[in-house]
Amino acid sequence: MTNTHVDRQVRHKKAMQRKKAHIDERIAAATIDKGLIVVLTGNGKGKSSSAFGMLARSVGHGLRCGVVQFIKGQWECGEHLLFKDHPLVEFHVMNTGFTWETQDRDKDIAAARATWAHAKDLLKNPDVQVVVLDELTYMLTYGYLDAEEVLSALRNRPLHQHVIITGRNANAALIEMADTVSEVVDTKHAFNNGIKVQKGIDY
Ligand code: ATP
Ligand code: MG
Repeated sequence: MTNTHVDRQVRHKKAMQRKKAHIDERIAAATIDKGLIVVLTGNGKGKSSSAFGMLARSVGHGLRCGVVQFIKGQWECGEHLLFKDHPLVEFHVMNTGFTWETQDRDKDIAAARATWAHAKDLLKNPDVQVVVLDELTYMLTYGYLDAEEVLSALRNRPLHQHVIITGRNANAALIEMADTVSEVVDTKHAFNNGIKVQKGIDY
């Protein structure tokens, strides 16, 4: 080994020791254990798939989960096919499509409220450890659900229940209440180059 190589090894080891000490300190400082609100928002792709990734993790650990999907897409999603009959997952999907497809505000509101009733039950149930509220943000931006009612149900949920919320333009009060918020940036999307939706990637 050359001297430069040895030098580099020594410097690397020192830097990694410092890094490890810093990380260990931060891990030791994180002592609070509670249910989280995770918000996945922004215009880029990856919000719902991230939420269902956490659902898969949770189910993998044997946690009891609930899913409420506030917008029913045109295609049958893989996550629904995988989890709808899973013994640990209670899965509800709103029975209408996108609001620009129904073009009927009263019908959308009725569907949103009926779907919200399932979410409200899950948010009251201490046996449900993880709740995914997919595309919930649109129900608030369109005014289909009362924001105060939604925020209050989230605030009063069981202490150790995690809630994952997805959708663009998350409401400011929701962001304020959340523990973890990620905004997915739309750097590039295949669809904008004329590429069709792809099974497994898009639905
Ligand atoms: P995904 O479910 O793939 O994680 P998402 O939840 O972030 O996506 P939504 O706005 O819910 O995004 O849209 C769902 C569908 O629209 C997916 O098929 C996704 O690939 C597509 N999509 C998401 N973002 C964009 C975008 N910026 N441009 C075009 N299509 C998009
Ligand atoms: Mg989505």
